[in-house]
Amino acid sequence: MAQTKVKRVALVGTGIMGAAIGGHILDAGYALVVHNRTKEKAQELISRGAAWADTPAEAATEADVVLTMVGYPADVEDVYLGSKGILAAARKGAYLIDLTTSSPQLARELHDAAEVMDLHAFDCPVTGGEEGARAGTLTLIAGADERYVKPVLPVLESFSSKIFYFGHAGAGQSAKLCNQVSLASCMVGWADALALARQSGIDEDLMLDMVSGGMGGSVALTRLAPRAAAGDFKPGFLVEHLRKDLGLALAEAEDLEVTLPGAETSFMLYDTLCQVGGSRMGTQALELLYEDEGTSSAAGLDWSALPSVADDGHHHHHHH
Ligand code: NAP
Repeated sequence: MAQTKVKRVALVGTGIMGAAIGGHILDAGYALVVHNRTKEKAQELISRGAAWADTPAEAATEADVVLTMVGYPADVEDVYLGSKGILAAARKGAYLIDLTTSSPQLARELHDAAEVMDLHAFDCPVTGGEEGARAGTLTLIAGADERYVKPVLPVLESFSSKIFYFGHAGAGQSAKLCNQVSLASCMVGWADALALARQSGIDEDLMLDMVSGGMGGSVALTRLAPRAAAGDFKPGFLVEHLRKDLGLALAEAEDLEVTLPGAETSFMLYDTLCQVGGSRMGTQALELLYEDEGTSSAAGLDWSALPSVADDGHHHHHHH
């Protein structure tokens, strides 16, 4: 593999992000084999020329590069270490690159397990959202140094426009969690602002336009606040995945003995949103927590699903 060029790429996980990434890999001319838990979500890539594999192992067998873009750390463990997993099936010298936002510790374990099998595994979570994936302009956050990544750079560049090297396994995930912590507080920031604007009776869109050009703005506000204000809660980035990321960040913070009040607050809000049925909405659905029950129910939330503490007389909905 050292002197030969990458020809065959495997992709495990063809959800919102994976499907878009796979499209760019096909466009770049690689032979692509795909696997996803639900085959239907791979159909578009298959119709564009990708081969289907029934298991992660089968996808990995012939590949020079295996990309994984699944949901949770448990899914990552499953596709790499499970009985039909990638690690046992990949051929010597192959590169195994996990694009999932997952646990730094797990990334280190996978890297170490791969090294002893003559495989190159590194974490490479991404930012840029569904838009970035569709445009092929994601930012990649590698848990490896530049030299280690170089042989597979053309594959990675087919769906990204920037790559940061954090030097060692797990460090890409640690850096990504920093991004998620910052992002989550940006989300709470604009959702607070929108609620205040609404109550003040000022023009909400004008307020967002004004804030987005200044120090109070963020890419999160620019892209997502207008969608929330317009009542569009379709996912881009799933609520349950931001909840997962904040949980991972808080676990790491606990290990490292740092306190993250912003992440604690945003975790609590996104956790509530999951409990009332918002898991599969886009992260902009945070705005619904500030709405009255009628509005949030109409958008699909169910406050009766919240574990009740009514019996002790302290029951109250956080949004009231
Ligand atoms: P998604 O739409 O849920 O995609 C995940 C895909 O992985 C699903 O199609 C799922 O299959 C598949 N999968 C999960 N476990 C599997 C397994 N054991 N075997 C085979 N396939 C499996 O989520 P996404 O938005 O693409 O996000 C993927 C990851 O990227 C997450 O970790 C997320 O946090 C991160 N991320 C997302 C964004 C974004 O804006 N969306 C941005 C940056 C990073 P099913 O079809 O059966 O569910």
